[in-house]
Amino acid sequence: MCGIVGYIGNNKAVPYLLNGLHKLEYRGYDSAGIAVAENGKIKVTKSAGRIANLEKKLQEKEPYTADVGIGHTRWATHGEPSDVNSHPHSSAGEKFCLVHNGIIENFQSLKASLEKEGVIFLSQTDTETAVALLEKNYSGDVILALSKTMKQLEGSFALAIICEDEPEKIFCARRSSPLVMGKSDEGNFIASDVTAMLKYTNNVYKLGDDEIAVVTKDSIDFYNINCKKLKKESEQISWSIEDAEKGGYDHFMLKEIMEQPKAVAETVLPRIKNRKEIVLDTVKLSEEELKNIDKIYIVACGSAYHVGVIGKYILEKMTRISAEADIASEFRYRNPILDEKKLVVIISQSGETADTLAALRLAKENGAKTLSIVNVVGSSIANESEAVLYTYAGPEIAVATTKAYSAQLSVIYLLSAFIAAKLGKLDKEGLEAFISDLENMPGQIQAVLESSFDEMEKLADLFLETEHAYFIGRNLDYAGAMEASLKMKEISYLHSEAYGAGELKHGTISLIEPKTVVVALCCNDEIFAKTISNIKEVRARGAAVIAVTTEKHKNEILDVDFVVSVPDARAELLPSLEVIPMQLLSYYTAKKRGCDIDKPRNLAKSVTVE
Ligand code: GLU
Repeated sequence: MCGIVGYIGNNKAVPYLLNGLHKLEYRGYDSAGIAVAENGKIKVTKSAGRIANLEKKLQEKEPYTADVGIGHTRWATHGEPSDVNSHPHSSAGEKFCLVHNGIIENFQSLKASLEKEGVIFLSQTDTETAVALLEKNYSGDVILALSKTMKQLEGSFALAIICEDEPEKIFCARRSSPLVMGKSDEGNFIASDVTAMLKYTNNVYKLGDDEIAVVTKDSIDFYNINCKKLKKESEQISWSIEDAEKGGYDHFMLKEIMEQPKAVAETVLPRIKNRKEIVLDTVKLSEEELKNIDKIYIVACGSAYHVGVIGKYILEKMTRISAEADIASEFRYRNPILDEKKLVVIISQSGETADTLAALRLAKENGAKTLSIVNVVGSSIANESEAVLYTYAGPEIAVATTKAYSAQLSVIYLLSAFIAAKLGKLDKEGLEAFISDLENMPGQIQAVLESSFDEMEKLADLFLETEHAYFIGRNLDYAGAMEASLKMKEISYLHSEAYGAGELKHGTISLIEPKTVVVALCCNDEIFAKTISNIKEVRARGAAVIAVTTEKHKNEILDVDFVVSVPDARAELLPSLEVIPMQLLSYYTAKKRGCDIDKPRNLAKSVTVE
């Protein structure tokens, strides 16, 4: 979590820092701050709350004229969001000032021993130990001090540092948390992700784990943790600045919802050859290796985990290999059975999700085959897995995922059919029919967007009079209900839960009372009638019911408050259609409840802490 920015060039740094912080605010937004090196002194301004609070504080001061600075937007892990806990943090002697993304896991023991030596800490953050340590380790060579400090730190960190003795440089280091550098005509930049610098450059360098960077206005040099110089090539990023801006929509979330046909098309179509073959170049598993696999684990967090649950149903159904979806933070601590007969599919939008990355490493250490589904090119998960299938969703800024989720789902479809075909579980005709349905999907998603857009705005009113909502469904519809419920609660703060429709009567039905809203997903043909019975059960207890179903079933659902329909499609692909009205419903509910849609409270986009 959290966003780090830095600028060094011939212009005043503050506007670049603020612009970068705004771009990164989705990563964390409980406090913000900047530090500049001006006339041989480090000056810091920071504030709890949004970036607007920081801007106000800056306006009240004599403007900074420095051409070098670092900035931070925080998502607190240690210490409440307050002015003093905001970053940047300075060392006691004020020689160093730094911003940090991540968690210093051994901060307590470090702090205790530094305190014994007389260091006084001002904040409750773990971060302050890093800057104190840096000053303690310093005897004239910043890189050496940084290298010593990195060796003493446990946990995750991306650090950007300025030092009073070398004010024309920004020093960076990282372990597990992302940090990129970019060169441009206007100066050189550092940031937690490229969206903060897309306005100036598409050419970026990715700092690797346990590496150090030294950025001046003309150069960027890299070192390993032992201070040995490294050679690094830059990478060209295809995203444009328009991709990372709102483009006329009220919110990034709505823009990203509307971008889903494109995200799915760009993820799927280049991987289909001559309408009859799925080409996944990066997946090198031979037929023999695939035959050897006795279990597929899909490991992820949040919405990506819901993609995993859908994946479990589809992969298992199509390939007949046993599949299981796991929450990454559970998987890594439950001693899962891992060996070369296991395929571990890792899903993460950012490619930096801390628990998911740890799960990937665990899988690799134990000899399992690994494959990741990731949106950010060159991210840690992408780099470390044996095979990566990128989603081409473009930058996703809203904290609540929509287009990355849809793109991840489409990779699951591709992968399922790819493996099924290789194993002979899907014959030539079957594969061609599946491909043809996949090709139609972007158009179908577009159709659902158009048909449900206004409808969902009106339906959102139902959620203004209740404090509880339940999303129910069976099998794939249940997985869809999990995502629909998460979307609703994360942005509208309405309490909602997802239930397997058949499970409700084993306890939770006691919570259903008049006005409780139940959204019943019943697109799945095979168990349609079963879910209808569950709808009747909640209706009988006074719930308001919205049913989501396919065209062909829409007239069969009577006695509900509203029927939302999506086009008929192959069962495996319906999760991509039924999620669209659910996203819009959450969006409009949050809007009508006056919530901060793109930046819901307590959340951050890229969860780089455990
Ligand atoms: N652990 C640090 C803090 O709580 C950094 C959190 C972040 O990544 O924003 O201040």
